[in-house]
Amino acid sequence: MSKLQEAMMLTDKGYGDLKKAIFACTLTNFSAILPAIVMMQFIMELVKPFSGGAVSWTKMWLLFGAGVVAVILVFLCHKNDYRKTYVNSYMQGEATRVSVAEHIRRLPMSVFNSKDLTDLTTNIMGDVANSEHVLSHLVPELFANAISITCICALLAVYDWRMALAIFISVPVAFCIVVLSRKIQERISRKHVAAKLAASARVQEYIEGIKVIRACNMDGERFAVLERSLREMMRLAIKMEVGTGVFVTSAQTILQAGIGLTVLVGTTLLTGGQIAFIPLLIFLLIVVQIYAPVIVLLTLLPELFYFQIGIKRMRDLLDIKPMTGDAEKVLSNFDIVCENVNFSYNKDAEQTIKGLSISIPAGSLTALVGPSGSGKSTVSRLIARFWDTDSGRITIGGQDIKTMDPEHLMSYMSFVFQDVVLFNDTILGNIRIGNREATPEQIIAAAKAARCDDLVDKLPDGYNTMLGENGATLSGGERQRISIARALLKNAPIVLLDEATASLDPENEASIQQAISTLIANKTVLVIAHRLRTIAGADNIIVLDKGQVAEQGTHDELMARDGLYRKLYTIQTESLGWSV
Ligand code: ATP
Repeated sequence: MSKLQEAMMLTDKGYGDLKKAIFACTLTNFSAILPAIVMMQFIMELVKPFSGGAVSWTKMWLLFGAGVVAVILVFLCHKNDYRKTYVNSYMQGEATRVSVAEHIRRLPMSVFNSKDLTDLTTNIMGDVANSEHVLSHLVPELFANAISITCICALLAVYDWRMALAIFISVPVAFCIVVLSRKIQERISRKHVAAKLAASARVQEYIEGIKVIRACNMDGERFAVLERSLREMMRLAIKMEVGTGVFVTSAQTILQAGIGLTVLVGTTLLTGGQIAFIPLLIFLLIVVQIYAPVIVLLTLLPELFYFQIGIKRMRDLLDIKPMTGDAEKVLSNFDIVCENVNFSYNKDAEQTIKGLSISIPAGSLTALVGPSGSGKSTVSRLIARFWDTDSGRITIGGQDIKTMDPEHLMSYMSFVFQDVVLFNDTILGNIRIGNREATPEQIIAAAKAARCDDLVDKLPDGYNTMLGENGATLSGGERQRISIARALLKNAPIVLLDEATASLDPENEASIQQAISTLIANKTVLVIAHRLRTIAGADNIIVLDKGQVAEQGTHDELMARDGLYRKLYTIQTESLGWSV
């Protein structure tokens, strides 16, 4: 793989397309010279009477014809150039976006702890857009201009090397200024990119938290935070423009000095009789023309440096190893066993799960209970391989889950989370996520079993009603019912219920409990529950405290002991009698 292909993170096809785009751009540059040559010939024919000659009208008409052909050629080259650069780079951009999104899907959840949503959205949308811009606007033009300038320089040198040298001597000096200042430009740009990300995060936080902000009268306080980060972004944007502007402007000034130098060398040669007036005039016309693409190059380079920061961020993300494993292994037994599992979210912090050894026999209902923060959700996430354990192992049917492909593992599990995520799709589409092969009839049957019908009846288009972003129009209980319908539709042998009935009113809860009974019949079930009365009938209740098993047994066994379970149960039973 070539350095350029690697730097731009291009597929083989993308790299092939880039080479074609560079060729097309170079062709466009050369085609632009044709009208200039015809025009030059035209002028030379017109000024013939001044040197005692006569204008040949036949030649003038021929030149007119050549001019028309040249303009058509320029148009065709531009058209070809457009297709090869813009269309292809946007196609490559789409491929990159899909592969980044695919990659993110397979990353360990620890990545999402260290990166926030704005960061990842910027990766998929912003950084890929940057690389699209680099591919469509910068790289082809950069290479094409460099190639055409070098060719023209060589041609001019053949004609008169002294004039060619006068024209081109300022070009490398100008480039050196921009290239050598790269480190300074990159340092300012990195700060600007960081400020831009921070400002996006603040905007997102402000909009997402608008309800809390209003409820707590924090408008002024939070707005001040937002305003500060926006002002910082503006300050760094100006600093960056000044920082790069200084170098680019200095480079351009040095380059323009080449015009003066060419005039000086030209007039010296003319007075010495070493060059004729017309060739000198042509050189002077060329010097003005040739500096235009060089100036473009000088302004493109800092842009390239800037966009490299985003591309590097994307490369860093793609370098993170995704979770892998066997995607073929067929499980036939669903005993879940945790053997001396240790885990912490943050390597420097205290362990969240310490030496956990539990067994969830196939076909049984096991409940995980314990005080808030004791690690119940963490255990269920480890079983679903959202995270890998630090030490110890978790097996399902004797198979270490670390050796299994996470998506394949997930095909054996239905998960009902505390926070239900809904997509900007119809109710039907949101339930179908449970099983993409399901027919509409199967989906509706699952929805009915999860008591979604009364909620659907209220909606204008029934099951085909669009839910909007994250189902913002639904209540907590309604969202949870959709989530249960998904799990019912999936019909996986292992069911993980994380506070599944937490957001339901008593009436709803009773009917949902029936739906859950259907969902969990003959399955291996792990229920995380705060309301202990809901799991009193569980086969085994594991009580967690500070990431360790405090005690376990059936409800009656645990109540007979004077332990944590009995304490929690008593507090909850007493609190049921509270009123306000
Ligand atoms: P609750 O009953 O309140 O939901 P829990 O028993 O389910 O609590 P966990 O959610 O497993 O507890 O959290 C256990 C500990 O791990 C807590 O101290 C929590 O702050 C921490 N924790 C949970 N999720 C993360 C995360 N994504 N990153 C870092 N720490 C986390």
